[in-house]
Amino acid sequence: MSTIGFIGLGMMGQPMAHLLHAAGHALVVRDANVSAAQGFVQAHAGAVMGQDAAAFAACDVVITMLPNSDIVDAVVKELAPSLKQGACVIEMSSADPTRTRALAERLAAQGLGLIDAPVSGGVKKAVAGTLAIMVGGEPALYEAHKSVLQTMGQAITHVGPVGAGHALKALNNYVSAAALIATAEAIHVGAAFGIDKAVIVDVINASTGKNNTTENKAHQYMLNAAFNSGFSLALQAKDVGIAASLGQAVNHPMPLAQVVSGMTGDASEKLGNKADHTELYAYVGQQAR
Ligand code: NAD
Repeated sequence: MSTIGFIGLGMMGQPMAHLLHAAGHALVVRDANVSAAQGFVQAHAGAVMGQDAAAFAACDVVITMLPNSDIVDAVVKELAPSLKQGACVIEMSSADPTRTRALAERLAAQGLGLIDAPVSGGVKKAVAGTLAIMVGGEPALYEAHKSVLQTMGQAITHVGPVGAGHALKALNNYVSAAALIATAEAIHVGAAFGIDKAVIVDVINASTGKNNTTENKAHQYMLNAAFNSGFSLALQAKDVGIAASLGQAVNHPMPLAQVVSGMTGDASEKLGNKADHTELYAYVGQQAR
């Protein structure tokens, strides 16, 4: 068993760290919200607080599950001088792949490894330990840390060199957001034409338009106005923005991504930081003239 640093005990990080503890790993945990880290330590025997960088000195692995690349860069920069040679950062946040590559280069110069291993599946799969995990990095580093990832996920795929996991994650979330917006438009327009909203979703689910939103979000979080999936609109807007920037970085136009990024960004600005991404359904509904 390893000594693992875990930074970012939010909606996703808390259940992921819980599974690592249950598997027998020694944990050093940190969150900017100190009470989240304190609550975790109180509920998990042997886990210790990592508010000081020195607390991570014994870690073989440091997992980051944080909101964005700015925060990841700042946290890793602070911790790196305290980490032991050969330690590996497993960057599981959804982040900007070009910045991840730059971070990996800086860490390599300090004798530290990095693989990016973002996840898909949301809070439910984080709790169940069945996340999809897409990994970028040197194959040997991936193999060395695969068993840690298997504690948190099921469909684990090495997708390419460092940054490739973050690139694919952003592209996945772009596809997912585009389908969510298309589904919301279809429901609102169908309803305006007189078709029952539940019937619209059920018929699409039996037809070729079926997608993750129609199957797992429309009834569960949108038609009932629960809007509590656990994945924020701000994080989704960040992911779609990363995907659109990636298109620019490789000189491949993504006109649809520009539209989806514009809509998620505008909705996030209007609905605020606390909004769940399923509230895009209500945002789309407000576009009616
Ligand atoms: P969250 O906002 O619930 O959790 C982020 C945590 O990071 C918070 O507890 C926050 O206090 C902490 N944090 C922020 N700045 C920090 C700092 N400087 N030092 C230490 N801790 C800090 O977000 P989440 O939903 O758990 O998402 C985490 C990451 O996973 C994001 O990159 C997100 O895009 C990605 N993700 C989320 C979901 C989901 O369904 N929620 C699914 C897949 C991927």
